Amino acid sequence: MKIYNTLSQKKEEFIPLEEGRVRMYVCGPTVYNYIHIGNARPAILFDTLRRYLEYLGYKVNYVSNFTDVDDKIIKKANEEGVTSTEISERYIKEFRTDMEALNIREATYHPKATEEIDGMIEMIETLIKKGYAYEKNGTVYYKTRSFKEYGKLSKKKIDDLEAGIRIAVSEEKEDSMDFVLWKPKKEGEPYWTSPWSDGRPGWHIECSVMSKKYLGDQIDIHAGGEDLVFPHHENEIAQSEAANGKEFAKYWMHNAFLNIDNKKMSKSDGNFFTVREICDQYDPQVVRFFMLNSHYRSQLNFSKDLVESAKNSLTRILTAVGQLEHLLKDDILTDKDISVSEQQLIIEAELLASKFIASMDDDFNTADAIAAIFELVKLANTNSTGESSKAFVQAIYDRIVKPCDILGIITSKKEELLAEEIEKLIEDRQNARKNKDFAKSDEIRNLLLEKGIVLEDTREGVRWKRS
Ligand code: AMP
Ligand code: ZN
Repeated sequence: MKIYNTLSQKKEEFIPLEEGRVRMYVCGPTVYNYIHIGNARPAILFDTLRRYLEYLGYKVNYVSNFTDVDDKIIKKANEEGVTSTEISERYIKEFRTDMEALNIREATYHPKATEEIDGMIEMIETLIKKGYAYEKNGTVYYKTRSFKEYGKLSKKKIDDLEAGIRIAVSEEKEDSMDFVLWKPKKEGEPYWTSPWSDGRPGWHIECSVMSKKYLGDQIDIHAGGEDLVFPHHENEIAQSEAANGKEFAKYWMHNAFLNIDNKKMSKSDGNFFTVREICDQYDPQVVRFFMLNSHYRSQLNFSKDLVESAKNSLTRILTAVGQLEHLLKDDILTDKDISVSEQQLIIEAELLASKFIASMDDDFNTADAIAAIFELVKLANTNSTGESSKAFVQAIYDRIVKPCDILGIITSKKEELLAEEIEKLIEDRQNARKNKDFAKSDEIRNLLLEKGIVLEDTREGVRWKRS
């Protein structure tokens, strides 16, 4: 697989640090509100990359943090008259709800900044000891110029950056480019005790520390939106490489931004949607499909028309899969031998399936990969009928469903039974038992289990619940 590395600004062959394993860190959200549709872009993309790497046979350790101490959280807590923890816990819960709706898998580790303060203090101490940081009046700063490679990710030069700073240099800092690692508390803020002051960490240090703790000093992939390249990721490199004495991440991946109606998303301008709002209007699968339908390094425009068009495209895929399932499951097809022309079509389908993989291998080009799925759908629609052989239909079905599965697109939902249908089946089962027709009663029990319904025999009768 080739990945475009922001660090080298080239597509590079992906070779993990350790054979068969991938260590991956994706900067997570600051939890002070519902996530917006732009935040969903990296979440969906990198979840899909993880799924693809697993498909390739790697064991992926996927870490994503929650920034649960931050000015915005504190501000919201003060506005509502509640604690910061109450705000962050509330929005972590809402975040998880959105992730589940979008079929984004839970990270291997999902650490919270507030639970990792000791590690942050330890790293800051190391940086001070090594001469990369200094303390002034309870604040600890990173001495940016002491890290000789500063700017290597964002391709910025410290001197140019410095020239662009117009604000008066703070008296405390030795250099205007120095950034905060630890700051003393202000009235009403959450704080932790440290050797320098009662206070809290800066934002950048949390990712360096959590990445080290859960993945080790060196990782394979570090990812996030392109706004994070500078200063966040540049500062993470400066901290981690200075503290650990090793290259931090091998591959840096950044998604381009999502705009709404060709404009930058902005709450005050009214062009701003939460994931929740959009998922109320569309099946979350449409949102997932929409995000994957363009390359992650291209800007993505979000508009009602474009989402509608993604909805129609997804429906075409799901309808084709539904039709193949119908042929396979409803006793329509006979077990006749596969014909020569069908064999030829399977070879074509196999080539399209390889096209899907080749696109994914080419810097995770999900847009081209989806185009290959559409060619498969076309092949299926024109060639599978009630006259087809079962082996042929199964082969085409497998070649469409697998790539969808890799993309996290659910092709066949378990049909949910309605409560009254369940009650009716339970009654039938009770009758079967009364008549000592245990084969039938077992059959009903298994059917219910298949549909995710678990039965419990109690003194008051049979109870059921969805598993
Ligand atoms: P934040 O909570 O602002 O730190 O954002 C969480 C993630 O969403 C980061 O990876 C950001 O780079 C990313 N992000 C924020 N806004 C957008 C957007 N409009 N389009 C794409 N990604 C975004
Ligand atoms: Zn980060």
